[in-house]
Amino acid sequence: MESVECPGLGDSWHFEQAEDGSASFIDPESPERLYRARPLSRECTHCGATVPAEDAALVPAADDAAEWDRLAMQHFMGCEWIESRGNQVKA
Ligand SMILES: [Zn+2]
Repeated sequence: MESVECPGLGDSWHFEQAEDGSASFIDPESPERLYRARPLSRECTHCGATVPAEDAALVPAADDAAEWDRLAMQHFMGCEWIESRGNQVKA
């Protein structure tokens, strides 16, 4: 669990990212005022699919077929990133 200052919400507000990738905004003086943000995601630069941030940062070994199969479900068919297993093999 990471907690950092979030300038846009004032000095007392904290931004936390949970291990599942979801984010929360918390006012430490009123902990009940917790704003749950949608899970953080990123857009694949190759196919434009929206991928969970924690998976977007992953580059499994080229021979880890099971993991690449799992990641492939999050991308569009023929995604160059998936086909090349993160540029580790020729697409
Ligand atoms: Zn993709």
